[in-house]
Amino acid sequence: MKLALIGYGQAGGKIVDEFVRYDEEVGGGFVNAAIAVNTATADLRGIEHVDEDDRVLIGQSRVKGHGVGADNDLGAAVTEADIDEIQAAIDRVPVHDLDAFLIVAGLGGGTGSGGAPVLATHLKRLYTEPVYGLGVLPGTDEGGIYTLNAARSFQTFVREVDNLLVFDNDAWRRTGESVGAGFDRTNREIVERFGLLFAAGEVDDTGAVAESVVDSSEIINTLSGGGVSSIGYATEAVDRGDDGLLSRLTRSDDGDHAISSTNRMASVIRKATLGRLTLPCEPSSADRALVVASGPPAALNRKGIERGRSWLEEETGSMEVRGGDYPRLGTDRVGSIVLLSGVTDVPRIEQLQEVAVEAKHTTATIEANSQDGFETLVDTGGELDALF
Ligand code: GDP
Repeated sequence: MKLALIGYGQAGGKIVDEFVRYDEEVGGGFVNAAIAVNTATADLRGIEHVDEDDRVLIGQSRVKGHGVGADNDLGAAVTEADIDEIQAAIDRVPVHDLDAFLIVAGLGGGTGSGGAPVLATHLKRLYTEPVYGLGVLPGTDEGGIYTLNAARSFQTFVREVDNLLVFDNDAWRRTGESVGAGFDRTNREIVERFGLLFAAGEVDDTGAVAESVVDSSEIINTLSGGGVSSIGYATEAVDRGDDGLLSRLTRSDDGDHAISSTNRMASVIRKATLGRLTLPCEPSSADRALVVASGPPAALNRKGIERGRSWLEEETGSMEVRGGDYPRLGTDRVGSIVLLSGVTDVPRIEQLQEVAVEAKHTTATIEANSQDGFETLVDTGGELDALF
């Protein structure tokens, strides 16, 4: 599917940069346009693959290119003030050839956390194409302010977009890894999963298995209805025959080889669903799902895909489980992307919601106390007045 990617803030910009690189590498064809927006000059300088003209610095009059720190109210305010500068870059997007917008942001910081939901509201007002979000949740070790920012941003972002795809840094942390190396690795993991899904909807329909290739409308239908989405991904090596040919083991429709190929395909779909998801959640709480089987055309075993899809139908209890292929040449692995859309049983989000509610109470208590304090001051002032 053809996307206009808008990376907001440092994480958003870096991930969009990586999407552009990946799209070129795999010949995906899903990047219709790529824009990076930031309040910090230095962060925009770190971007390599997004065109220089499409790197937009906002908030200069307020923060002079130094960023907004972790102040997401300021991130939202400068976005509102400079929305025309962002729109000028979006005006260059070839919208006639566009399936959707995707706004990418880390939700724990300031610029992306505050600005991405504001931009989503703006785009929804102007365009008829769906506006999706890709939100990155901070690690729990990053500190309270990041969690609080993410809790607040998440609530607004999910309301404003047509679907919020989520990646939880916390679930993908590795001990002993530096923050920078960790981000580079997770950015590749993010892009491989979401990029494969978007690229799958872009395959031309001239291949041998054209009738079963995933269409961008299937991705859009799975995402429509809103809410939060998570993605699972798994691959397995395809055995090669003694002569090194893949087709010997996979093309036949009968015999042991076909059975093993069916089993392998079905098992890779189960592994994708039950393994580590971009946002850990209970698959049975998904409202809709999409299975994309990828790999060399000869290894895309029809029976296996159908079996995997039926299994996912049972697992999610959903009648809306779509399926399709993404034939890829030049790989000797079969893989499966499983998109779980409208998931509701998500421990990390419940935790964020609790943080947001607690913060609201704390703010209300502080406001009430300061009001009491003010009244006491006024009263005391009155008493003091009476003394003189
Ligand atoms: P902003 O520039 O003010 O929007 O803030 P950042 O994007 O720098 O940081 C926001 C959050 O995104 C942080 O709390 C991190 O959890 C996360 N983050 C920052 N950089 C990256 C990155 O390159 N990859 C990933 N996966 N997460 C990042």
